[in-house]
Amino acid sequence: MGALNVATTWVGTTALGPGRRSVVWVQGCPFHCAGCMSPDWIPDVPARSVEPAELAAELLADPAVDGLTFSGGEPTHQAAGLAEVIRAARRTRDTTLVCFTGYRLERLRHRPPAPGVAELLDEVDVLIDGLYVAAQDDGRGLRGSGNQRVHHLSGRLADCGYDFEGRSRSTEIVVDGHEALLIGVPPPALLTVFDTAVEQVRQSHIGGDHER
Ligand code: SF4
Repeated sequence: MGALNVATTWVGTTALGPGRRSVVWVQGCPFHCAGCMSPDWIPDVPARSVEPAELAAELLADPAVDGLTFSGGEPTHQAAGLAEVIRAARRTRDTTLVCFTGYRLERLRHRPPAPGVAELLDEVDVLIDGLYVAAQDDGRGLRGSGNQRVHHLSGRLADCGYDFEGRSRSTEIVVDGHEALLIGVPPPALLTVFDTAVEQVRQSHIGGDHER
């Protein structure tokens, strides 16, 4: 199994699905949705290369984690590797899986864009599909905009009490030095504030470097 190309990860959050979850954001997306909250992860360029088994172990480092969320970037373009990640995780612990994709489920099933898509779909409990459309962002739910659909592929999370489509959004912001990571699906206004703050921090850092 080949290595994954991962933009970043986070271990232990409550902002991207039910329970306590670890998140993989893959690098590379063929879409260019206006207002995408992760534009740095759209280019299909080498980022962090990691083997599926190693990544699964990392994601389960927090013993309270009971779910994984795959986002990006476009997870289905690395479907074979991600299917191996969730299978490896499930060999260690009972783990649910939420996966985002810019494709529609019908396209994934009938014309998969990469090897391993059917394998990955076999593992997914909840698939959130479709492109982000800013004009249809109603500020609610785990899906970014109202056109995106929530598919309970396994039914396992259908009755868990988590309202994927209508819940109030929650986000976590992690700051590490000069980098900041926003975890979750933010209300539109928060994303604007976040981007502005990150840019200000970057500029102050550049200014500081010049002064030295
Ligand atoms: S599909 Fe997702 S990651 Fe890709 S451009 Fe659209 S919002 Fe961004």
